[in-house]
Amino acid sequence: MKIPKLRDLGEAVKAIFSRPYPSRFPAEPLSPAEGFRGKPEFRSECIGCGACAAVCPSAAIIQSDDRELKMRAFELKLDRCIFCGLCVESCPVKTGIVQTREFDLAVFDRDELVQKIERELMLCEVCGEIISTREHLRWVADHLGGLAYAHPALMLAGLGERGLTEREEFAVDQNDLTRADRMAITCPRCRHLLSLKG
Ligand code: SF4
Ligand code: SF4
Repeated sequence: MKIPKLRDLGEAVKAIFSRPYPSRFPAEPLSPAEGFRGKPEFRSECIGCGACAAVCPSAAIIQSDDRELKMRAFELKLDRCIFCGLCVESCPVKTGIVQTREFDLAVFDRDELVQKIERELMLCEVCGEIISTREHLRWVADHLGGLAYAHPALMLAGLGERGLTEREEFAVDQNDLTRADRMAITCPRCRHLLSLKG
C-alpha cells in the first residue's frame, strides 16, 4: 500500500475545514469575472445598420425589412446564440448591442428568449429601394461632418433629423428624371442615373 505524503495529508485535512473550491451556484448567486461573454442585448443606441445580423454565425439575429410599413425589425433569439461576441465587435456604434454578464437563461417558454427592436426605414424617393434606416443615415452624416453636404440624401436626412428642414416626401417619376430631382433622397443606383442627366 502506498503511504500518502505528509504534505498531501495536510492538504486533505485543510480541505475538510475550508470552503468548497467550486461555486455553490445556484444555491448562491454567482458573479462572473470581468469580460465574461454572457447574454447579448440590444440597446437604444442601435442605429439599425444590420451589421450584427450579417456577421452572426448562428443566425441568432434575424433582420426583416418591411417596405410598406417602412420598418426594419430585428429579432435576437438567445436560444440560438453561441455567445461568440461577433455582433458586439462588428457594431459601428459600439453600444448598439452589448454582452451582459447574465448567463442563467433557463426558461420554460422559448418566446421569452427573444428580444425585438424596430427602426424606421428610409426608401429611395425614385424607385422605392431600401437605403437604410433613418438613424443609420443620420449617424453617417454626423460622422462625415461638413462632407455630408456633398451628398443630398445624407444632407437631407441629417437636416431633417435636426428639424432644420420642412420637407414632404415626394414621388419622383423614374422615367422623367430632371436635374431638380437631385435634391431627393435616393439610392446609389438612382443617384447614378441622376448624375448621368448632367
Ligand atoms: S454573440 Fe455571436 S451568436 Fe450570439 S447573437 Fe452575437 S454574433 Fe450571434
Ligand atoms: S447598430 Fe449595432 S446593434 Fe444595431 S443593427 Fe447595427 S450592428 Fe446591430
